[in-house]
Amino acid sequence: MESISSPAGDVLPEDEPAGGPTFLDRLFDHGLLVRTGVDGLYGRSGGFESVVNALDRMITRLGAAEGAEVLRFPPAMSRSAFERSGYLKGFPNLAGTVHSFCGDARGHAEILACLEAGTDWTGQQEATDVVLTPAACYPVYPVAAARGALPAAGRLFDLQSYCFRREPSLEPTRMQLFRMREYVRMGSPEQVLAFRESWLERGTAMMRDLGLPLAIDAANDPFFGRAGRMLANNQRAQGLKFELNVPVNSVDKPTACLSFNYHQDHFGSTWDLHQADGAVAHTACVGFGLERITLALLRHHGLDLAAWPEAVRAELWG
Ligand code: ATP
Ligand code: ZN
Ligand code: MG
Repeated sequence: MESISSPAGDVLPEDEPAGGPTFLDRLFDHGLLVRTGVDGLYGRSGGFESVVNALDRMITRLGAAEGAEVLRFPPAMSRSAFERSGYLKGFPNLAGTVHSFCGDARGHAEILACLEAGTDWTGQQEATDVVLTPAACYPVYPVAAARGALPAAGRLFDLQSYCFRREPSLEPTRMQLFRMREYVRMGSPEQVLAFRESWLERGTAMMRDLGLPLAIDAANDPFFGRAGRMLANNQRAQGLKFELNVPVNSVDKPTACLSFNYHQDHFGSTWDLHQADGAVAHTACVGFGLERITLALLRHHGLDLAAWPEAVRAELWG
């Protein structure tokens, strides 16, 4: 199939007139996203989902030759695995924990009385052994480690999960619950870096074929607090994270639609995961934000899917 060229430069097709409806408003008006009353928590239409599903299939085709092991987890994980993963060191502000009522009949009556009076009813909620998954790859490291040392060729996993991050926003591209498709590579530094390199190319080609203007940039994770500043600088200086950015909300602040992460031996040492020769395993992952790519397509090709360029429709739906 002949690939279409990206629009010239990092431009948005139509600038939003000041004071006019925002991109988010227009998505609501067209029914593509559905309000829930919470910023970053949306229902989606059948049309929106048809794009998400087509992207998911496209990403499967891109990785088909490598024979990745497919695993799917629910959008929650074990609290103890989450604690061990180190997520709370870097991103305590984004974490979502599942709390539940553990009281008796009297406690129940108190809750109902609070609801009736419009006062806080959550005082009796207690943390459970379940937390929300922050990134699709988090549940897989303990699973891989439990199998023992990696085979000589390492391992490759194909994951997809709803992910939760407590980052409410009016930008439709920053949701609190969204779907992330990931490939995760575990092995030697050479193996995982070669994986990341090849996905940088494949991801770029995929997004070009979808007619999206893009740039690959060095990036850092939004580590929390003052100590986080140092971690972020370090991550950038060492070239550990790259993002594929597409202008969606604005040209000045383009949106990360794919990310390419080299964790070095962070998860290997955290989870006691070893290479065949006994050395600590290195890991890398490529993440595709399924809603973000869908929103980028809607922003650049318009809110009417039937009117999208034929070449883009062919890429998605054959
Ligand atoms: P950002 O820099 O915009 O906060 P990120 O770098 O934190 O995003 P990653 O942690 O690398 O994102 O997550 C992998 C992918 O998941 C991103 O490339 C993006 O496409 C998607 N993603 C991340 N956060 C969100 C969100 N809040 N809403 C929708 N998609 C998201
Ligand atoms: Zn990951
Ligand atoms: Mg980022």
